[in-house]
Amino acid sequence: MRREGIFGMLQRCDKCNAPFSWTEILKSLWWNYRPIHCEKCGAEHKIKFSSRLTFVLLTILPMFFVGYFLAPLHNIMLTFGGAFFVLLTGSFIAPFLVTYREY
Ligand SMILES: [Zn+2]
Repeated sequence: MRREGIFGMLQRCDKCNAPFSWTEILKSLWWNYRPIHCEKCGAEHKIKFSSRLTFVLLTILPMFFVGYFLAPLHNIMLTFGGAFFVLLTGSFIAPFLVTYREY
């Protein structure tokens, strides 16, 4: 087996077992959960409903949470910077935790 490090943890195609790319999954998440087509066999995969919630819990929710707590400091840069940083962190992790199913 080829060593793929952390990116080896990403989901693979249900049909041919080809790994999906991190960017492909991230694009799908930000593009309103657009279906992913396997690069190798073309099988269409749709996100599981529970994974939609996972994505929201990792990105949108922490962003508002951080924004809410930083807002009283009246430092716009800090508030937006903090919220943006949390959003980026969640976006980085999300592709590892979401699940797609062949449709
Ligand atoms: Zn495939």
